[in-house]
Amino acid sequence: MTTDTAAQAAYVVAALLFILSLAGLSQHKTSRSGVVWGIAGMVVALAATVGLASRSITATGLVLIAVATAAGAGIGLWRARVVEMTGMPELIAIMHSLVGLAAAFVGWNGYLDVDAELSGSLLAIHHAEVFIGVFIGAVTFTGSVVAYLKLSARINSRPLTLPGKHVLNIGALVAFVGLTAAFVVRPGMGLLIAVTVIALALGAHLVASIGGGDMPVVVSMLNSYSGWAAAASGFLLANNLLIVTGALVGSSGAYLSYIMCKAMNRSFISVIAGGFGTPAAAADEDEQGEHREINAEETAELLGNATSVIITPGYGMAVAQAQYPVAELARKLRERGVEVRFGIHPVAGRLPGHMNVLLAEANVPYDIVLEMDEINDDFAATSVVLVIGANDTVNPAATDNPSSPIAGMPVLHVWEAANVIVFKRSMAAGYAGVQNPLFFRENTQMLFGDAKQRVEDILRGLDALDAPVREMAGTSR
Ligand code: NDP
Repeated sequence: MTTDTAAQAAYVVAALLFILSLAGLSQHKTSRSGVVWGIAGMVVALAATVGLASRSITATGLVLIAVATAAGAGIGLWRARVVEMTGMPELIAIMHSLVGLAAAFVGWNGYLDVDAELSGSLLAIHHAEVFIGVFIGAVTFTGSVVAYLKLSARINSRPLTLPGKHVLNIGALVAFVGLTAAFVVRPGMGLLIAVTVIALALGAHLVASIGGGDMPVVVSMLNSYSGWAAAASGFLLANNLLIVTGALVGSSGAYLSYIMCKAMNRSFISVIAGGFGTPAAAADEDEQGEHREINAEETAELLGNATSVIITPGYGMAVAQAQYPVAELARKLRERGVEVRFGIHPVAGRLPGHMNVLLAEANVPYDIVLEMDEINDDFAATSVVLVIGANDTVNPAATDNPSSPIAGMPVLHVWEAANVIVFKRSMAAGYAGVQNPLFFRENTQMLFGDAKQRVEDILRGLDALDAPVREMAGTSR
């Protein structure tokens, strides 16, 4: 068997391993094996690629590949080990930016180093691939960098609203099509520089125009773009595995974006166009009225007398690492005969499934953890709702205020309960930067402070409630 045939066979094996990986990652139970399949596929792919390349490159070239692989693997391992769960989306965003940058470089290399044997229509196709690869890569690069900056709170998550922003986006696309035609007919560095600049600006603008509440969809959309960027590089490098892998990432990312759009009641097309998340400053500036406060002892008493409690956790529970005392609180209340359930919003926290992972970590039984659609009708018959570090996902403005930036996003209807206790440190807005009218409702009380400390205070309060009962039991014995 020749090296080429062996490498192509290895590519087929790697592609199958990547498909198994995606299948594994699609379910909680099988996700670990999905990761293992993915690692195995990447090892096979790298070995085959280096084996194939070794026929035509020098020993120095091989050493450089080994150094680059070791450096990349080292950085990847280090980042993956130290990253906090709350920092995952921004890590993913910055990884996508590297895929985009690599694709843009591969495109530029394809222009600077053209195979001398190419001519006629094959050469024209090559030039189109160069142009498209640079365009998708550059859009992905700056889009992902802006997403990283927003997700890590280095820049404001509010949507940028340049005048005529849709015209700018459409203008960039039209320019891209026109420049591609010109480049295929008469390739030149000036045209390639022009498309690179336009694509860099378009990527940054598309993501900057999107409001914070819609960032989960943006992350999965950029995931898809990074796949298409890799596929474009695959065409240029005539590497079948890169084409297949890029298409797998591109299509699975697109499908995830579609699912998330459905969950958040957003139009898939407007996501791609970077057109949603329009501002509604007026909604924020509205006078909201007074809020009421409650302390931990009073909350413990309220919970002690409740018949049913729903806990809706959000990003603040992850920041405070409050899942363990929250699980303990649920256990204690259930022991007292209170019906306790958790209501989980699909984009609560900072990555899909974030709350489910934290609650599973703290051994909260799966059967009391319900999805938003499963629990939304039950709030009206609930005595107390504990909103623990959630904000955007429980904001009634999404249903009541058509001009709100999060209008139309499905939210947990916590305000329908008899009592709502909101755990947070201040009156600050959530990730989307939108004020929350829930805090000012008559049946809402604010419990300020770090969520973990406040839940621990409530646990002590519940113990104190039980103490006289225990003492009486002791004296009667
Ligand atoms: P939000 O991000 O809207 O709000 C979290 C709240 O937690 C804040 O208001 C903050 O208030 C409070 N908080 C922070 N730290 C603490 C602490 N230590 N103790 C108590 N409270 C704390 O949370 P949600 O989960 O409701 O919504 C998630 C948001 O993130 C949505 O807008 C979603 O679109 C977006 N997003 C989601 C992603 C995903 O995939 N799930 C990815 C990217 C973005 P204060 O500062 O006053 O304490």
